[in-house]
Amino acid sequence: MTAQIISGTELAKTIRTGLADEAAKLKANGIEPGLAVILVGDDPASRSYVKGKQKACAEIGIHSFLYTYPATISEEELLAKIRGLNADPAVHGILVQLPLPDHIREWSVIETIAPEKDVDGFHPINVGKMVIGQPAFLPCTPHGVLMMVKSAGIDIVGKHVVVVGRSNIVGKPVGQLFLREHATVTYAHSKTPDLPAVTRQADILIVAVGKARIIGPEHVKPGAVVIDVGVNRLESGKLCGDVDFDTVKEVAGFMTPVPGGVGPMTITMLLHNTIEAARQLAAK
Ligand code: NDP
Repeated sequence: MTAQIISGTELAKTIRTGLADEAAKLKANGIEPGLAVILVGDDPASRSYVKGKQKACAEIGIHSFLYTYPATISEEELLAKIRGLNADPAVHGILVQLPLPDHIREWSVIETIAPEKDVDGFHPINVGKMVIGQPAFLPCTPHGVLMMVKSAGIDIVGKHVVVVGRSNIVGKPVGQLFLREHATVTYAHSKTPDLPAVTRQADILIVAVGKARIIGPEHVKPGAVVIDVGVNRLESGKLCGDVDFDTVKEVAGFMTPVPGGVGPMTITMLLHNTIEAARQLAAK
């Protein structure tokens, strides 16, 4: 058996075409969707993520405002900037690229972003609404994962989803989103003994760890859906996921590649949330 590949690149292209139409409609009504991006410090990976997000915004007709600050900026200065953007009517979404320098408290930054402009879906109000099933901005990577599974026509109801990883931005919320879709959800993490015994129970296995190829064929039930969120840079400079693609594809039923899998969908869901934020403002 060779797994069917779920291409994030292809799905992202289709969704972005629809979003570009939405952006054009908003513009025709006098509203240009606007995303403010704050970049602190000079981490090359963060800079490249921000560049990718800005390029994607430009392609579909979202105006992006970039604010860059040295790593020495104080927390208070950063919070003051965010408060200014909260009040700026040209800005519909605010994104602070993570990670931040150690002297800035991440939670304090996230909580300062107005929930209605929190297009990353990290604000506790949006997280809480997601958990209790109220309309909210959904976190981009977990939402992208859900869209990929749905796009492949995979039935989620009653399926056993195993999530490896329990971070606040990927693992925890992705499990919640699948719970909302009536899956039976299990979380595994670094303290889980006998990981393969747990992951082999999964009908849908979602891996968000950040360790190159830690999931091999011995972790996967034949025919399972395997979603690889991990992005790891090898010494060669090449990117790879948390799943050993070449061996797992012989066991899995469906798989996502890295690159070209969850990554493009994460950015697409950010664009989706920004358009939604602009639309909500237009409706006020
Ligand atoms: P974190 O480092 O915040 O979390 C990693 C999780 O993996 C933790 O819960 C940790 O457990 C768990 N873990 C670590 N080692 C093991 C192990 N040996 N066995 C089982 N679980 C383990 O990472 P993130 O959630 O932020 O990101 C995960 C990966 O996803 C990274 O590669 C990141 O680059 C990528 N990513 C990709 C995105 C995309 O768009 N494609 C977007 C966001 C992230 P514990 O809690 O016990 O420490």
